[in-house]
Amino acid sequence: MTIHLDEKLEPIFQDVLHRNPGETEFHQAVHEVLETLGPVLVKYPEFADKKIIQRICEPERQIIFRIPWQDDKGEIHINRGFRVQFNSALGPYKGGLRFHPSVYLGIIKFLGFEQIFKNALTGLPIGGGKGGSDFDPKGKSDDEIMRFCQSLMTELHRNLGEYTDVPAGDIGVGGREIGYMFGQYKRMTNRYESGVFTGKGLNWGGSLVRTEATGYGTVFFAEEMLKTRQDSLEGKTVIVSGSGNVAIYAIEKAMEFGAKVIACSDSNGVIFDEKGLDLDLIKHIKEVERGRISAYTEARKGAKYIANGNIWSVPCQVALPCATQNELNGKDAQTLVNNGCIALAEGANMPTTPEGIQVFQTAKIAYGPGKAANAGGVATSALEMQQNASRDSWTFEYTEKRLQEIMVNIHRNCFETAEEFGMSGNYVAGANIAGFIRVARAMTAMGLI
Ligand code: NAP
Repeated sequence: MTIHLDEKLEPIFQDVLHRNPGETEFHQAVHEVLETLGPVLVKYPEFADKKIIQRICEPERQIIFRIPWQDDKGEIHINRGFRVQFNSALGPYKGGLRFHPSVYLGIIKFLGFEQIFKNALTGLPIGGGKGGSDFDPKGKSDDEIMRFCQSLMTELHRNLGEYTDVPAGDIGVGGREIGYMFGQYKRMTNRYESGVFTGKGLNWGGSLVRTEATGYGTVFFAEEMLKTRQDSLEGKTVIVSGSGNVAIYAIEKAMEFGAKVIACSDSNGVIFDEKGLDLDLIKHIKEVERGRISAYTEARKGAKYIANGNIWSVPCQVALPCATQNELNGKDAQTLVNNGCIALAEGANMPTTPEGIQVFQTAKIAYGPGKAANAGGVATSALEMQQNASRDSWTFEYTEKRLQEIMVNIHRNCFETAEEFGMSGNYVAGANIAGFIRVARAMTAMGLI
């Protein structure tokens, strides 16, 4: 870890290291938040007296379970499932489920920890949680995905509920998986409890704009950052890492704002299209065929596919990391800055390493951390819950307007909080402090919980 902590915070961090051995991503996420909380404890010493930070760093509940399932040949497989119910001071636990072979407790805890502050920043009544499995959905048939989802939910259902814990999607979990899990939840509980999942299909309780929300929200946030510098996305050259849900809709909204998006990627390589990406083609490859991004160059002559390429070496003015954690290191950050990048908003969670963040902050480019910039997804999930509770469904235009207002407010809140604490332009500090204070006040009001 590069930045030293305040003397009150260092022992708290040491305790987190000691209690959670080997969970490096969780350590990284906690350190990043603690780095910015020193001035908060000076202004609000009661939070130190009440050990709010120590309490926030310890999840309220952690569930780990076995997921046995059979593949199409009848062979049995065992995966591990997780749900970390981190903090419910502001509302039911809320956060996605991730299916990826890299998943272990440390990943789920880092994501759950970030989710607490992100959800607080939305201003909506949602606590923080996260879950998932080390299951690899790549190459699995529809039936295998269904059997896996049903087995997972057979165990997890008892811990969920619209007032308790409300999952959604994340890496490897989209509309198809949510459908299978919701179906099994309904069967196990004998309740049509729409508000227990978000990201549902549009004809069975889902919300318009939820699919687009994280990517759109990230671009709204980038536009707001640029506005503070009397600039905009119009005419900018943009690159977006990943080609999943968040990446696709970040590309779409950036294009709507008049930007030219020239590159995206997956875990095997990068596509570079100087004329601007063909988004319909990308959607067809990823959403219809569930294929690899390398297929793009077969249909689009003139575009290049760079196997194992590094997307951050493609020169751009605005970068939107939308794939995964720690995908952008200090060297990549320096390359982006040297190539003239002026703004970066994170659609993914914690995609930039601590060294990378330092490079952006030293260069004073507009840097929007994931817990603020990608909060549009969970915010729209909360809007889906509102629609479910009132048995209503809103139009696309109205829902998108609500999303945009929320992103503008999150941006303003982060910007003003950073100013208030003497760290002008530092969205990392602004997001951490504003999110923390909202949770800390609720926890204080509720007594020792
Ligand atoms: P997704 O649809 O599964 O797409 C993930 C994309 O990232 C894919 O293109 C994938 O490529 C790539 N990727 C995943 N792991 C990678 C790795 N280790 N190295 C390189 N590329 C990798 O997932 P998503 O929902 O878009 O999520 C993307 C990011 O956004 C994650 O950090 C997630 O936590 C965050 N996020 C998502 C939401 C949401 O609403 N979905 C909300 C907030 C934040 P492959 O296909 O090759 O694996």
